[in-house]
Amino acid sequence: MGDCVFCKIIKRELPSKIEYEDDDLIVFQNINPIAPTHVLIVPKKHIINLSEVTSENQALLGKMLVVAQKMAKKLEIIDAFRIGVANGANAGQTVFHMHFHLTGGWKEKYNGDEDKA
Ligand code: AMP
Ligand code: ZN
Repeated sequence: MGDCVFCKIIKRELPSKIEYEDDDLIVFQNINPIAPTHVLIVPKKHIINLSEVTSENQALLGKMLVVAQKMAKKLEIIDAFRIGVANGANAGQTVFHMHFHLTGGWKEKYNGDEDKA
């Protein structure tokens, strides 16, 4: 979609630090991390959010989780990580191209502070 930040990153019209890419997904560093490690797992297909998915997207959603696990290994947070999804503006979604947040790298036990994601 023309004015979508994540579509622009996918098309290399905006810079990002890409950690992984295949035909279906891209993973890049969050420009404003809220945890020591914070990447975004993003399908290349422009789907607004989870409210819009159908059973046709089932394999893609499964792949997003498998890639998240692989990224957790690659980024050395496999022992402790979180996956978050904001769905809808009132839930805090700010980029309306579906994505999973993968966060981790805390030195202490996670206690739910917002600044720890
Ligand atoms: P959400 O608020 O859940 O929709 O998540 C959107 C995320 O995208 C936020 O955490 C932003 O920091 C991140 N973000 C926005 N623009 C960029 C960008 N150009 N490169 C990387 N991350 C971005
Ligand atoms: Zn998009």
